[in-house]
Amino acid sequence: MPSEDQFKKIISHAKEFGFIFPNSEIYDGLSATYDYGQNGVELKNNIKKYWWLSMVQLNENIVGLDAAIFMHPITWKASGHVDAFNDPLIDNKDSKKRYRADVLLEDYIAKIEGKINKDITKAKKRFGEAFNEDEFRNTNPNVLRRTDEINRINEKMKAAFEDNNLKAIYDLIVDLNIVCPVSGSKNWTDVRQFNLMFATELGSVAGDASTIYLRPETAQGIFSNYLNVQKSGRMKIPFGIAQIGKAFRNEIIARQFIFRMREFEQMEMQFFIQPGTQQKWYEHWKENRIKWHKSLGISNDNLRFHDHLKLAHYADAACDIEFNFPFGFKELEGIHSRTDFDLKQHEEYSKKKLRYFDPELNENYIPYVIETSIGLDRMFLAILSHSLNEEKLEDGTFRTVLNLPAPLAPIKVAILPLVRKDGLPEKARDIMKTLQINHQCHYEEKDSIGKRYRRQDAIGTPFCITIDHDSLSDNSVTIRERDSMIQERVPIAELPAIIDKKVNINTLFN
Ligand code: ATP
Repeated sequence: MPSEDQFKKIISHAKEFGFIFPNSEIYDGLSATYDYGQNGVELKNNIKKYWWLSMVQLNENIVGLDAAIFMHPITWKASGHVDAFNDPLIDNKDSKKRYRADVLLEDYIAKIEGKINKDITKAKKRFGEAFNEDEFRNTNPNVLRRTDEINRINEKMKAAFEDNNLKAIYDLIVDLNIVCPVSGSKNWTDVRQFNLMFATELGSVAGDASTIYLRPETAQGIFSNYLNVQKSGRMKIPFGIAQIGKAFRNEIIARQFIFRMREFEQMEMQFFIQPGTQQKWYEHWKENRIKWHKSLGISNDNLRFHDHLKLAHYADAACDIEFNFPFGFKELEGIHSRTDFDLKQHEEYSKKKLRYFDPELNENYIPYVIETSIGLDRMFLAILSHSLNEEKLEDGTFRTVLNLPAPLAPIKVAILPLVRKDGLPEKARDIMKTLQINHQCHYEEKDSIGKRYRRQDAIGTPFCITIDHDSLSDNSVTIRERDSMIQERVPIAELPAIIDKKVNINTLFN
């Protein structure tokens, strides 16, 4: 299925089956804002649970935090967000559409990469087994020319962004003949900076002093509390603080469903380390985080690291873990070596000492920080797009199935009495009572069993249990597994063990 169609299918599936609804839909929606429905909230909570388990529960030197969304306004001055949390903005005068200048350039590069990949696919077909991709990349004149072009553009982009040279970014867009996808014209405005923070007023006092911001990242709540946590928890470096919470950004363009929203959730962990050890810990967290993604069944082909060309004002190394979304490889998680930038800034602005006394070195220092920052909503979209499949069955019909990792499924077990009479609903409800204390269950007695199975496949329920007339006498039921569709007759007493073996979150660590 072409990727655009696949993306549309994901969006309509998410709505039809209660995962994601457009926000304020009765008023025609609010752009780039979405609500999670009855199944979406379960899936989202399960992703959070797995992240928390992996980051906090299983690391004795990482603890959690839940800081407020509002912070003292000086926080954002110190962090650099008031002055530098900008995106370069450009408008097309004909279509009146607004774009991020860096994204226009990145999309241009992605097109060249697409051409390289086409050449490689063609050559692979032609040479078969004997094909050597590295050699082809290093010798094929077309690929070499295109790679050179990408490198040239990247170098120019890097220089322009590092110097904050908006004119150079504009010139690059014009030189590359980049046109507006809507009007097809090159009639661009100058590039301007646009601050992404939402500001609001605190209390009833007017004026600048009362301007506060909705946090654009959760990290600053961790920095401002790091000594509170360190002292009250008697933490020794290296240690981490993890947090899940909302963040807000007034994104210039937000057209990709829950990929880019103005209100979203982040799962961040700041790891405080001795200065000088950042390279080691940066590599450690890169490896740890990519493993986490793979543990959810996402294959190597759909994940990659992308080193940042343009380092943020606080970083000495940074990369993204990118996922192959239906619209191409895009950032899913950032891993940043933030140096001591944030704590140093807060020390300067707050005039409070934020130093750690290291008993091993017998000295005070401001710790360095490695950060892992993943967008919960982007992770949700990655899991959804990775799991949604259309399967052709033996009888030639199709089924839509959400092959979610079982521990993440919104509903773990559907309880289905074959008919709505003869005591089967009562028996089914008894079984539900024994299972629902441990698992999210769903009871349904309407429609044929086949239709009920299909509905559960579409929301990714790993098990369906059918209660029939024999169940009343032999205390057995039919259990159907989502992926294999195999149905087995099993004693009711064995259900908890069978279900747990597959849906327990522990299985993700195997
Ligand atoms: P992008 O380059 O896509 O704008 P970013 O580099 O600004 O992202 P970070 O500041 O590193 O993003 O934020 C960490 C994570 O938060 C990202 O990897 C992403 O998963 C998530 N995130 C950032 N902005 C948004 C958004 N507008 N909507 C949803 N998730 C977001």
